[in-house]
Amino acid sequence: MLRHGYVGIPYVPVFHHEIELCQSYVYFKHSSAKSPYFYVIQYHPLYLLIDTMQIFYDERFVLPLPLQHRFPMQKYALLSEQVREGSIIPQATVREPQPATDREIDRAHAAAYRQQVDDGTLSAQALRKIGFPWSPKLGARERLVAGATLAACRAALDGGCAVNLAGGTHHAFREHGAGYCVYNDGAIAARAMQAEDRVTRVVILDCDVHQGDGTAAILQDDASIFTFSIHGAKNYPFHKQHSDLDIGLDDGADDDTYLTALASGLRQSIAVAHADLAIYVAGADPYADDLLGRLAVSKAGLAERDRMVFDACRSAGLPVAVTMAGGYARDVADTVAIHLQTVHIAAEFQER
Ligand SMILES: [Zn+2]
Repeated sequence: MLRHGYVGIPYVPVFHHEIELCQSYVYFKHSSAKSPYFYVIQYHPLYLLIDTMQIFYDERFVLPLPLQHRFPMQKYALLSEQVREGSIIPQATVREPQPATDREIDRAHAAAYRQQVDDGTLSAQALRKIGFPWSPKLGARERLVAGATLAACRAALDGGCAVNLAGGTHHAFREHGAGYCVYNDGAIAARAMQAEDRVTRVVILDCDVHQGDGTAAILQDDASIFTFSIHGAKNYPFHKQHSDLDIGLDDGADDDTYLTALASGLRQSIAVAHADLAIYVAGADPYADDLLGRLAVSKAGLAERDRMVFDACRSAGLPVAVTMAGGYARDVADTVAIHLQTVHIAAEFQER
């Protein structure tokens, strides 16, 4: 006998059942039944996982790179360790994402490009632009990273806020990758939520220090997804695209300058977007000691940034999916600490 329903329906006294969490379903086995039967219960965070935030991570996020490669790939492993060891759990649940499917990727990318990523037939020039060497692990990783943003969006729509411990791959264009980005997770996830009929409109709030040029280009003719980017005006990418709202800051912008501009950008974006979901690209690279940042925002300033984004979304009733994006601090521990504080603040926001 197989029944479908939501946890909390009276015929399921939870404490008499064995509970197994499996993918996005919770299986209840009735221990006192004469013949074994199961309730297959669609996962619903209002019940079992009340007050817990979903965090998506997979160890395959850590792509093996040649020694001396400048991308701080170890930040993902360090961040996930600290999330697990720290005080975020049990307020949060760390789960593994499913890889994004061809269909999901193709809503934001040319199928031929996706095929090249899978086959390893990207040109040397295309790989140089991405900045990672090709291996079968690259394609698998990038599908998982995009899948984690997708999963975070679904979880945010169910529970208020959710986090991908990677993602924010906003330099990926429809037909090519760039700047350590292969697939554009924000565009893929926003369109997936629309295709799944979960949302009509989405706002992407990109606070990485580099402009979300790939996101802006992919979504430039899509009025249903609002793109906001606050970034260094003179920083990479040197040829900027047009987001729906761009704020370019001068080199050396400090906390006050950054946060004042952010407040204005958030106000305008959320007012105009009329969104059902926000994707927050929480780059750690506006940090003063970031090697690729060129701004002068402190850790405390970045914590305030996170609170402002979450508060603005809360006031508008917007669920938030968070992605980590860039971070190239002189000391990788600083990058990890900044990402970690974002996860903490997200958890606080989700609990309130
Ligand atoms: Zn960046």
